[in-house]
Formats: sequence, C-alpha cells, structure tokens
Amino acid sequence: MTPGSEKSSPQKVVAITRPSLHETLMTVAEAYALRGTCSRLQVGAVIADSRGVVLSSGYNGAPAGMPHCDHTDSSEPCRLSVHAEINALLWAARRGVATEGSCVYVTHEPCYNCSLALIQAGITEVRYRYSYGRNSGVPLLIGASIDVSSVSLVGAE
Ligand SMILES: [Zn+2]
Ligand SMILES: [Zn+2]
Repeated sequence: MTPGSEKSSPQKVVAITRPSLHETLMTVAEAYALRGTCSRLQVGAVIADSRGVVLSSGYNGAPAGMPHCDHTDSSEPCRLSVHAEINALLWAARRGVATEGSCVYVTHEPCYNCSLALIQAGITEVRYRYSYGRNSGVPLLIGASIDVSSVSLVGAE
C-alpha cells in the first residue's frame, strides 16, 4: 500500500470472518458433547433440516434417572450409555419432530448400531468431526447412499 492511499477509499470495510453453517452446527454438537455423562468419552449430536435449522440434539449417557456410568476401574466396553445420535433421534420422536431428509452433526463418527438407526430414521446426511475407528458405521452409511463427510473446525486444531 502506498502512503496516503487510505484517503482515496473513504469507506472503511471491516472484514468479519464467519464460520460456515457446517462449522456452526458442529460447534453446537461440540457444546452438547460437554454434557455427556459417560466417563470414557463425551459425544454430542445435532439434527438439522436442509436449511440448517436445529430439530433436535443429544449427548451420550445413561438413561434418565439412572446413575452415570463410571469406567474408572474397567476396560469393558460401555454398555449403559445411550449414544448421542440415538438420544437426538429419540428426543425428536418424543416431540413428534420428523427426521426424514435431515442431517446429523455428530462429534464422533457414528458406530454401527447408531448408523442402522440413522438410516431407518430417514437421515440423508451425516457430518462428523473425529474418527472413532472401532466399530465404525461409516461404511454402512455409505452403502445406504447417505452423504457422509467429516467437518473440521477452522482454527480449532
Ligand atoms: Zn459409559
Ligand atoms: Zn453409536
């Protein structure tokens, strides 16, 4: 920039950086993950319609009214927690919110059983942030022609 060139453009443009809609909804899923009650892993999920309007949300944990699971002295798989995606689907079911054609934002890639449920609930898109690896349901989702991809949060890594 040459000295004094600011004078030729009187309007000051303030650049704002906004997250994409995908990033915003993943950030919301991350916020719900903080509510997770399983001592092994906290997972959050958000179900949004095609315009990005949030329809339902969930996090993982023992069913309501039951003690939170505690894996401090155990390497056994968690059998008590209802997974975040299932809780989000069930919350939608309890309130009569249709999930057909909607998108799920989940912090960790869905497991096999959650993927079966997501397919049957008519979910057509799945966005996740972290790979889970073990017991992944991603191949199942792709096999069911569901649009699956990962979302990274800018500046978060
Ligand atoms: Zn647990
Ligand atoms: Zn699951």
